[in-house]
Amino acid sequence: MATNLVEIFGTKVFSDKVMKERLSAETYEALHLTIEEGKPLTIEIANEVASAMKDWALENGATHYTHWFQPMTGITAEKHDSFLDLNRQGEVITKFNGKTLIKGEPDASSFPSGGLRATFEARGYTAWDPSSYAFIKDGSLCIPTAFCSYGGEILDKKTPLLRSMEALNKQSLRILRLFGNTKTTKVNATVGAEQEYFLIDKKVGETRLDIVHTGRTLFGAKPPKGQEMEDHYFGAIKHRVSNFMKDLDDKLWRLGVLSKTKHNEAAPAQHELAPLFTTVNIATDQNQITMELMKSLAGKHNMLCLLHEKPFAAVNGSGKHNNWSLSTDNGINLLEPGETPYENAQFLLFLTAVIKGVDEYQDLLRLSAASAGNDLRLGANEAPPAIISIFLGDELTEILEAVQHNATYKGKKKSTMQIGVSMLPAFPRDTTDRNRTSPLAFTGNKFEFRMLGSSFSIACTNYIINTIVAESLAQFADTLEKADDFHKALTELIAKSYKKHKRIIYNGNSYSQEWVEEAERRGLSNHASTVDAIPCFASEKNVKLLEKHGVLSRSEINSRMEILLEIYSKTINIEALTMLEMAKKQILPSVLAYERKIVEMALNKKLLDENFDRSVETDLINSLSALTKKLYENIHKLESHTSNANKGDDALEKARFYHEYVFSDMTSLREVCDKLEGLVDKNDWPFPTYSDLLYSIK
Ligand code: ADP
Ligand code: MG
Repeated sequence: MATNLVEIFGTKVFSDKVMKERLSAETYEALHLTIEEGKPLTIEIANEVASAMKDWALENGATHYTHWFQPMTGITAEKHDSFLDLNRQGEVITKFNGKTLIKGEPDASSFPSGGLRATFEARGYTAWDPSSYAFIKDGSLCIPTAFCSYGGEILDKKTPLLRSMEALNKQSLRILRLFGNTKTTKVNATVGAEQEYFLIDKKVGETRLDIVHTGRTLFGAKPPKGQEMEDHYFGAIKHRVSNFMKDLDDKLWRLGVLSKTKHNEAAPAQHELAPLFTTVNIATDQNQITMELMKSLAGKHNMLCLLHEKPFAAVNGSGKHNNWSLSTDNGINLLEPGETPYENAQFLLFLTAVIKGVDEYQDLLRLSAASAGNDLRLGANEAPPAIISIFLGDELTEILEAVQHNATYKGKKKSTMQIGVSMLPAFPRDTTDRNRTSPLAFTGNKFEFRMLGSSFSIACTNYIINTIVAESLAQFADTLEKADDFHKALTELIAKSYKKHKRIIYNGNSYSQEWVEEAERRGLSNHASTVDAIPCFASEKNVKLLEKHGVLSRSEINSRMEILLEIYSKTINIEALTMLEMAKKQILPSVLAYERKIVEMALNKKLLDENFDRSVETDLINSLSALTKKLYENIHKLESHTSNANKGDDALEKARFYHEYVFSDMTSLREVCDKLEGLVDKNDWPFPTYSDLLYSIK
């Protein structure tokens, strides 16, 4: 039966509509004041909300509730309690009150804290975030929460995002007031996160230790057919995959997730889901839910969903495109060029704010996309390089050039126009070409950040974009609020800022070597790997920025940095150990067994007739022996570096060691094994090959 999309949409969400129906007018009003203006919540109100939530949840089949939070692991965490309780008479009742809604106390000692919380001080708190709706998942009422330590330092990805939204709102409003806008009371960042993923058959995938333990293949020779025919992108969707996608959409819609577009991606077995955009904190929650459901539903369909950035070496990896813009509560997109010169001037100022912020804080944006998995993808001719730049397109670049030089801008259609803020040219939206190689592309009325890896939480990237833009706007407002002649000051400000920061704009092919050299001449930063990028977090400039806008404190930054480095080291460590296990217990024995077969064949030939031609066997044995020797040596090298890597306490030193020694040993070991795969009989190879995996879904 066809799904009635409108009827099922959001049925599992304690949405604004449900709240309006179920709460008293006063409580509903009070809750809105909390959501919109951050007014503190009284326990009476929390009690009424909790009671309504419980009734709604029970009516909708829930038996448990959980504080749903986003610790630094990058995935969500939940601990379920049932609504069950006993009254004084010992009878079974259901119970859920304001106190349990507002605050939870999960044992925090098992979540990464980066030195903020000693293990003996296990307490951590989750605090209800009323700005995200509660929802029912798998029989549990999930209450979105923030997570912090006993000392009040935050330990999650969501809180800095909420804080950055406040900073951005405050500074954006200052600018809007200067343009005479008195109506807007709130400015929000809006985000649509396109999500790429791979699907492979579960039975086939689960026989590989690397996929099970690390989510990617650590070995595997290039298959005869990869993505070179360009026949998968937008191709017809296979039946099994289509069933999965339908099921996923159905579940997502019920949870109020705005799933919109689905299609096959460039690599075989690769797909994409894009939602409609929404307010950034909700988009962040929804992306987490999407990833979680993709994984669990794939299992039900006897498939594995790989969210790793680079599950297969020979074909494209998976990213996540973070589309970001600014929207007012009265529905205006502040990055929409608009029809009139007046709107254009305001647009150009917000645009310049992004350009300035990105140039000044390239390193922060870069590190928001840093991970062991994404290192395998960035700069590999399929994803943007590790260098941050902005694609603006020719027309906008020409307009800003004209503003800078106080020159005339010859519009594409219009006749020559004098530049001056009161008569900035009206220019048509989206006349620019699409550029697929830029890390941050202006796409008509939003910026698309393309560096994120597919498994990332989008929280970090967005609190960084929000904060750097808030900082630009704050500086702009400081200047403009003091100006005697607003229009003159505005033109000068745009011209000056653009001139200073235009080095960050690059409209060419970002995948080219030419750009790497050009970027170096321009003095742009190039942090090629995660271990280069992460230490930038704690530079004085960055600490000052994040503290000024109340997004992260110095100790919170230091803890985050340590966690990121630890996660990096642990990831490489697990990968190295998995490789060793596979190389020692699966590949080496299989190769030796195959060698023995050939040796036996050669011997048998010799026994039959001394003069039989044994050149093929000899040749094969020579090649196999040489590679096996290399394999053996490489195993030992990796083994010894891996056992040394875990020594020492300094997180950065450790991560560097993993990067420089362990990771490079892994690359050499893989190379030998992939060559061996090409020599050994398929029936003797110990696990499924790339062809088996990439074409496992028929
Ligand atoms: P593509 O980048 O693949 O060409 P689209 O242009 O259709 O795809 O849009 C990509 C994403 O951008 C979608 O998730 C869409 O909802 C989102 N998007 C569109 N407008 C905005 C906006 N104003 N703010 C944030 N995201 C937006
Ligand atoms: Mg896109």
